[in-house]
Amino acid sequence: MPVHVCPVCGARHVVSSVLHQLAYRRSLTCSPSCKATFGQRVRRRILAEMAESAERRRVSDHHPDSED
Ligand SMILES: [Zn+2]
Repeated sequence: MPVHVCPVCGARHVVSSVLHQLAYRRSLTCSPSCKATFGQRVRRRILAEMAESAERRRVSDHHPDSED
C-alpha cells in the first residue's frame, strides 16, 4: 500500500492503491479535517494569485512606457 505524507499536517498515512492512482503524483491529506484545511488553503492561494495578477494588470495599464 502506498504511503502519502499529508500536505497539511505532515503525517504519513497509508492510502489505498485506487486513491493513490487517482491522486497521480499529488500527496493526499490524511483526514477529512486536513482535506478541508487544504481546500481552504488552495482557494486562498488562488484568490491571492488572481488579486495579484489583477493588480499587475492594473499597474501595467497605467504604465506610460507600455510597449503594446
Ligand atoms: Zn493531515
